[in-house]
Amino acid sequence: MQKIILLGAGYANLSLIKSLNEYSLDNAEFILVNNNSYHYKTTELHKIAAKEEGKNIKIELNKILPAKVKFIQDEVISIQEDKIICKNNELSYDKVVVALGANKNTFGISGLDECYEISDYEKALLTQKTIYENIQKDEQSYKNIVICGAGFSGIELCASLAIMLKNQANIYIVEAMDEILPMYPKSLAQVARKYLESLGVNILSSHKIIKKEGDKLFLNDENNFIVSKNIIFTAGVKGNEVINNSFMASKNNRVLVNKFLQCEENKNCYVIGDCSLIMNKERPFAPTAQIACKQGEYLANCINKILLNNENEIKEFNYIDKGSVCSLSNQNAIAYILDKEFSGFSAKLLKKFTEIKWNFKLEGLKSLF
Ligand SMILES: Cc1cc2nc3c(=O)[nH]c(=O)nc-3n(C[C@H](O)[C@H](O)[C@H](O)COP(=O)(O)OP(=O)(O)OC[C@H]3O[C@@H](n4cnc5c(N)ncnc54)[C@H](O)[C@@H]3O)c2cc1C
Repeated sequence: MQKIILLGAGYANLSLIKSLNEYSLDNAEFILVNNNSYHYKTTELHKIAAKEEGKNIKIELNKILPAKVKFIQDEVISIQEDKIICKNNELSYDKVVVALGANKNTFGISGLDECYEISDYEKALLTQKTIYENIQKDEQSYKNIVICGAGFSGIELCASLAIMLKNQANIYIVEAMDEILPMYPKSLAQVARKYLESLGVNILSSHKIIKKEGDKLFLNDENNFIVSKNIIFTAGVKGNEVINNSFMASKNNRVLVNKFLQCEENKNCYVIGDCSLIMNKERPFAPTAQIACKQGEYLANCINKILLNNENEIKEFNYIDKGSVCSLSNQNAIAYILDKEFSGFSAKLLKKFTEIKWNFKLEGLKSLF
């Protein structure tokens, strides 16, 4: 029996597991390794940080995994050509699927490593606790909240905080580019900008962060800074640091995989989700839950074929980016889907739909009740 090790219980590997057929589950040994006993829905972590919603954002793996998939809770330290080294285990493999997600990328800017984050459940919870304790204090620096980066997750966090903390805090969002949400058409970004401004958010676009020293975040030059006890970094991501500790060549800890999502050095090693790098013409696809899920589904299909000795039927991975939805708190959203722009109620519905779809994949009918 082949031993197939799956590293990371995020969007990519859970999609893979949920797309395996019964034959595969019966005819290979699947072992999932994850540092936590639960899966967290990264795309909803801003709600935790803002205390907008707390339920159903993390889900225990034993409630969603098929009985035939063995789960090991452990931290992966290094990926080698013949084995995986974890904190408490060493695992040999016939095939390994690496899907350990992302870490923040502070581009070497001094002090930014100390910022709060919302990149995993525990960090989002710490951010929430810190903000809610701090804003009770009188000094202005405790009431200033600064979000570094006006990309997807920064804007989602910003809108949720603005709704939840109305008149209790001063919220700033800092962006080096001249407009927020650089991945969206300008017209949609401006819808988001107007909405955030109507909620009292200070949008500092064209402001480049040069360093953070203690509570001071310096923008553009040494004379221009904001003082805040609540500085949250959402500006950049790279692949998981573990990739650095592996035999695979990578750029920003992301492995440039081939058309079958294999790493070139060892075809039994697949890399999917935020740790993988897939080119879309000249530029890589942005790491999103959408592409992670598609890669997981594709790879399950490959494994289903390999185990049935139908390897020759495997086609190359082909991805079409359908667009994305950016929530602006529970009350508003914008979306850019198949070159069409949506905002307000229709975009909110699209966001709800993507959340329901993922819950359904994880829990089936139970998720609807
Ligand atoms: C705040 C935020 C908001 C986002 N919003 C959106 C959105 O709205 N839409 C969208 O498409 N994308 C969004 N993204 C991006 C999206 O979440 C990622 O692209 C997606 O989660 C990638 O899936 P993955 O399976 O590669 O990694 P993840 O889903 O991050 O899963 C990685 C798993 O590996 C585990 N792990 C990490 N390191 C180790 C280790 N050393 N040992 C063992 N286990 C480990 C983690 O605990 C986690 O369970 C957002 C990201 C963030 C941070």
